[in-house]
Amino acid sequence: MHLLHTHGRLFVLQNSRTIDFEGEQCTCWRIELANQSGDSREIDIEFRGVTKRYDEVVAVDDVSLTVERGSFFSFLGPSGCGKTTSLRLIAGFDQPTEGDVFIGGASVVGIPPHKRPVNMVFQQYALFPHMDVSENIGYGLRQRDPKPTKQEIAKRVDETLEMVRLSGYGKRRVWELSGGQQQRVALARALINRPTCLLLDEPLAALDRKLRREMQIELQTLQREVGITFILVTHDQEEALSMSDRICIMREGQIIQSGSPRELYDEPINRYVADFVGKTNFFSGEVIDVGDPDITVKSNSGQVFVGPQPKGAPLLVSGSKACIAVRPEMISMSTTAETINGNDIAIQGRVMNRIFLGEHSEYLIATEEYGDVLVLSPKSIESMNRSFAPGDNISISWRPEAVLVLGDT
Ligand code: ATP
Repeated sequence: MHLLHTHGRLFVLQNSRTIDFEGEQCTCWRIELANQSGDSREIDIEFRGVTKRYDEVVAVDDVSLTVERGSFFSFLGPSGCGKTTSLRLIAGFDQPTEGDVFIGGASVVGIPPHKRPVNMVFQQYALFPHMDVSENIGYGLRQRDPKPTKQEIAKRVDETLEMVRLSGYGKRRVWELSGGQQQRVALARALINRPTCLLLDEPLAALDRKLRREMQIELQTLQREVGITFILVTHDQEEALSMSDRICIMREGQIIQSGSPRELYDEPINRYVADFVGKTNFFSGEVIDVGDPDITVKSNSGQVFVGPQPKGAPLLVSGSKACIAVRPEMISMSTTAETINGNDIAIQGRVMNRIFLGEHSEYLIATEEYGDVLVLSPKSIESMNRSFAPGDNISISWRPEAVLVLGDT
């Protein structure tokens, strides 16, 4: 079987036979558009039971996943969890030890990188210093066989420069560009070959915080404009949350949970995911009763909490270790004299620290029962009420429905 990538589509060539055409022996193939499953959600990338071992190290461990065509998908996880290896398996720089990788419905195992309809943008841009911006961007086209004409290359380079908002920069040397502009050249160089999927390995890591934020918005806009699948590798949860349609959270080579940013934030299946996606307060304890849907947990300090487990989480059993998760923005602060709604969980605390972060302030509250509790207070609330200062004795409270019961792993 062979793959043919043309007109932005991947075709499968199979069942070859030799025919005699006017005295010449020709090879004839049956050609099918890849991924004709009839599923309305077109799957661009698929892993089926993929494992990648480097000697003793299992970098990717029996991973199965699908990435929808035209979506923005991210691999998120700490250093060494197998994100880059997963990307390299899609790009073809590595081959799986076990399992199968599909692009557009066709297996690509054994197919070299340059024959796959994907392109990769690296963290260190890898631009050619001896070429100007246009030459860098047109590089991929000049390597093609047959090579497009000079006019075609120039036209495509101009279109791609416009796509990444760098029109007029074609004759600049790459060292004369800012970090963000160099990043856009790297993107343009990867896009000019019109891949069906763009692979981005920590593409914004070298940029400062403000530029990173700007480029996150630009990348998201670009992805919507060009409509191709983007697969991002990052350990920055804010980056993944702000740009992705779907995120896959990895740990030690395995997928722990995948879903939309909101699903992962609101329904993390365990402590690891909740901790990785956003900030959370965790109060450890033990399950004392399992109801439907609510689980009762006694915290290590003796408090009893009742709350549901997130959808899809492995069911907890009585006696197992669990934790209560409360997001810091779900916690209110008030002076001890103020009344608190009847059912709310309220505890006394003392303000230890306040960090002003622009749109909100982050407070660290010391409590006897739970240790230090993080509270996020939006600016709108702070300007209506008075804000609190280190040393203030206050009450913190949250509504019972703010509580999630999670497995303590
Ligand atoms: P980071 O965010 O630090 O880039 P990552 O999640 O992308 O990490 P990978 O680069 O995929 O992680 O590595 C996963 C594991 O595989 C790590 O333990 C790493 O040391 C190991 N590994 C990766 N490449 C190789 C290799 N070529 N040879 C041996 N081990 C490797």
